[in-house]
Amino acid sequence: MKRLILLSLVFAFFAMLVNTSCTPSEEKLRQKAEKIHRQVLTLDSHTDTPLRMMRSEFDISQRHDPRERGGKMDFPRMEEGGLDAAFFAVFLGQGVLNPEAYEVARRRAIEIFDMLHEALEKHPEMAELALTPEDAYRLEEEGKRAIYIGLENGYPIGEDLSMVEEFYNMGARYITLSHTRNNQICDSSTDNAGPLHNGLSDFGRDVIGEMNRLGMMIDVSHISDKAYYDVLEITRAPIIASHSNARAICDNPRNLDDDMLHALAENGGVIQLCILSSYVKDMPPYPERDSAFADLRQRYNNFEDLSDEEMTEVRRQWDELNSKFPAPLATVADLVDHVDHIVNLIGIDYVGIGTDFDGGGALEDCFDVTEMGNITLELVRRGYSKKDIEKIWSGNFMRVFRENEKIAGKR
Ligand SMILES: [Zn+2]
Repeated sequence: MKRLILLSLVFAFFAMLVNTSCTPSEEKLRQKAEKIHRQVLTLDSHTDTPLRMMRSEFDISQRHDPRERGGKMDFPRMEEGGLDAAFFAVFLGQGVLNPEAYEVARRRAIEIFDMLHEALEKHPEMAELALTPEDAYRLEEEGKRAIYIGLENGYPIGEDLSMVEEFYNMGARYITLSHTRNNQICDSSTDNAGPLHNGLSDFGRDVIGEMNRLGMMIDVSHISDKAYYDVLEITRAPIIASHSNARAICDNPRNLDDDMLHALAENGGVIQLCILSSYVKDMPPYPERDSAFADLRQRYNNFEDLSDEEMTEVRRQWDELNSKFPAPLATVADLVDHVDHIVNLIGIDYVGIGTDFDGGGALEDCFDVTEMGNITLELVRRGYSKKDIEKIWSGNFMRVFRENEKIAGKR
């Protein structure tokens, strides 16, 4: 009898433990989030995974360990993390503005497009190149990943307007007008030299018109505030910010302030939240890390005009420094603070997700694509409905995508 009492006491104690460590309501939320995450189409509007793929040793069809320099994304891990669709960026760093340099950038861009087409043709059972919104829904049904292409930096267009259509025909469905420095199209939000055109250049205006004509989305991430308003003034179609956050929550020139967000809603566009920690939250200073990276930057000419061998060496040392001085990371809860802010300010219809995985995107609890479900879980915890979450994961972005096609007469 005594033993029985003791046993039931032990049982009661463990039942209590289980209850406090994982309350039934938290378990219920988790189940609900998992179900929603599986059911809705999930789309990430910006990843730099092609940077990885350009290295011969990286095979997108194989599973990699993100903590061992394996990158944040590959087809097996996309499936594991329930990510149905992603934009892979054809990325070009900003170089000098002259015809010879434009030609080098143009050729490099075409190389990356070719590499992507080849990689996708090699694994038709896992993924396909997607060109329209409908492709993603069809591929989701078929259990395959939908891979879209975005051109990050309009630099390789040079001053040849016909290149916009060339890149469209290669599969690009958006162009991020600039990167970290001013180019021939517009000013960047982060060029230390200050503005070059005071917003959009005359050529940049032609580029906007051409993109509208083709139904190609205009990506305003990276461009200066003045260029942003210039774009809004002339575009006939809604815009995207493929990877940017709310400046009211994290004061960084890469993010959009409240006035810019109001203007975005008026345009009917969408801001796709980036998970790069320094755009999510003011992180505590880490001087050892900062000076190590500053030193690397200085030794390699500010990462400008480097040969392929030098770039490979920079990447190797970059990875080495990253493991020696791991970057402090923001959390999914910090990210969802941006969602809350934007939804409170302009409503649920203008926000989505664009991680910047493989371009610096990582959160403590969303370190690679396998942990994407944690974003859905946090949204569920904060009371977002399935309908809201569907809008955030793809509905809002696809509305903008369709509208761009419609204005171009393509639907
Ligand atoms: Zn970027």
